Amino acid sequence: MTTATITARVPHVIGDQLITENLRTQPIYNPATGQVIREVPLADRELLDRTVAVATKAQKKWRSIGLAKRSRVFFELASILRNESEELARIITEEHGKTVPDAQGEIARGLENVEFCAGLMHHLKGESAEQVASGVDVEQLKQPLGVVACITPFNFPAMVPLWMVSTAIAAGNAVILKPSERDPSAVVWIAEAFRRAGLPEGILNVVHGDKEIVNEILEHPTIRAVSFVGSTPIASHVYTTAAAHGKRVQALGGAKNHMVVMPDADLESAADAAVSAAYGSAGQRCMAVSVLVAVGETADPMIEKISERIRGLKVGDGAETGTDIGPLITAQARDRAARILGSAAEEGATIVVDGRETTADPEGFFIGASLVDNVRPGMQVYDEEIFGPVLAVVRVDTYDEAVELINANRYANGVALFTRDGRTAREFQFDIEVGMVGVNVPIPVPVGAFSFGGWKDSLFGDTHMYGPESFNFYTRRKVVTTRWPLANESQIEMGFPTN
Ligand code: NAD
Repeated sequence: MTTATITARVPHVIGDQLITENLRTQPIYNPATGQVIREVPLADRELLDRTVAVATKAQKKWRSIGLAKRSRVFFELASILRNESEELARIITEEHGKTVPDAQGEIARGLENVEFCAGLMHHLKGESAEQVASGVDVEQLKQPLGVVACITPFNFPAMVPLWMVSTAIAAGNAVILKPSERDPSAVVWIAEAFRRAGLPEGILNVVHGDKEIVNEILEHPTIRAVSFVGSTPIASHVYTTAAAHGKRVQALGGAKNHMVVMPDADLESAADAAVSAAYGSAGQRCMAVSVLVAVGETADPMIEKISERIRGLKVGDGAETGTDIGPLITAQARDRAARILGSAAEEGATIVVDGRETTADPEGFFIGASLVDNVRPGMQVYDEEIFGPVLAVVRVDTYDEAVELINANRYANGVALFTRDGRTAREFQFDIEVGMVGVNVPIPVPVGAFSFGGWKDSLFGDTHMYGPESFNFYTRRKVVTTRWPLANESQIEMGFPTN
């Protein structure tokens, strides 16, 4: 699918067919204008069953295709994504609202995993040991699971699907991808890109829908594994339900990421980092910094520097050059962020910069950058994941208080420390109970050769996403023990075989 073929109704992609039928539909908005731009059909169980049947048949062939050939699909896909990222970025911006350069950034981070998957032969290598007993060899193989499902959130409509489906497919599985119903067109473009890259039909299928189809997926007897990214309550539901139905499951949830600024930090670069990480993508990133933990005397200068910087940010349509902050995904998301800001003032925090005062188009779902001082745990602005351009400042006296605050939080996706002292940094990475840590790096999303995942309520399951851990998630191990005895070497052995 190209921009020209994204029509009034976004199709399901099942085998070689684009299907738009279905009884229920949901509108898709351009959040910058507040206008409905197309609609998405919501799948039912019958459509899911049909898709699973197509995927099951296709997977049997896919797993027997040579690995070198499989690899070539990823080299081709990488080239398409690199050369045509502007087109995909514009689709993302139209439905999500983020700026076009930001959308290109998410494509680049998805591309990292596609490139990692191009080395699939290396990642699928097993292990072997010769002569484990007299004349006996052992090899361990990594084989695909079969049909797997990937369920993705609205905030990275290309990157998160590319994280999941690339590895699942590289490992020899067929995929049912259920994207967010709020911005589903990007994955239809990606499915077409996979097809152009040489992926056989039926290996990547896109089924649109809401919670109804998610629940059908979680209970479907043929689907062997579920990868999920979304908010914590849904991630928890997906984890328990899919596991109760015998599936392998990884479910990544929400976040509340802290950035600690030590008194010895370079405050100018810390302020730049805080602004980029808190307000980029209008705060709708799972790795967005939403709490600044100011240690000692750093609070006042940091607040001054951040305020100066955000007063100059341009709020507007992400498709327009020069926009810094696009809209939130829905009017409800904007109103919720505004409500939480209101509650912060009532609960005793100080609103230093108030994003509710934005002059951006009132028809769009805009809210400007906000900075809130004197925040404490127990306030809604601290306790809840806002998922908007709001940075809360918590003042603490010492490093130990900062660590205690962060370790008491239920979320543990990402965290950053700004310091010039190596010893403090070393202690921090040892002490902090968070899955991804940045030292003078505000958004520590690991590069594609590592894997991505938080701790506590930010991840349910035990494998992280993309990279090496993902190849483990999408394969199962088979251990083959072999002996080639001569004709006269066999004998009856009634005891349990020992070496
Ligand atoms: P969401 O939980 O509302 O939706 C995620 C997916 O779940 C969608 O495909 C949606 O259709 C489905 N869904 C929604 N409600 C459901 C229900 N009741 N039952 C079953 N399925 C349901 O999340 P979102 O608003 O699309 O995305 C934002 C959230 O995702 C934030 O909380 C953010 O922190 C989180 N997120 C986390 C990571 C991470 O790596 N930990 C990455 C990106 C986003």
